[in-house]
Amino acid sequence: MMNAEKTQSKSTELKVWCEHCSIRIAPNEERTAVSGKVYHVRCYLKLPAIAKPKA
Ligand SMILES: [Zn+2]
Repeated sequence: MMNAEKTQSKSTELKVWCEHCSIRIAPNEERTAVSGKVYHVRCYLKLPAIAKPKA
């Protein structure tokens, strides 16, 4: 009998893709969000001078 449990462990995990390289950002990778867009931190640092929030 296949009695697979529903996968509910990933409750709040969001799948996000980097706006720069279009590669999915893994949950354990550092990311940064700017103006509603999400980037790898490494990609964000390579971006040309964009409006970086003063945080
Ligand atoms: Zn990226």
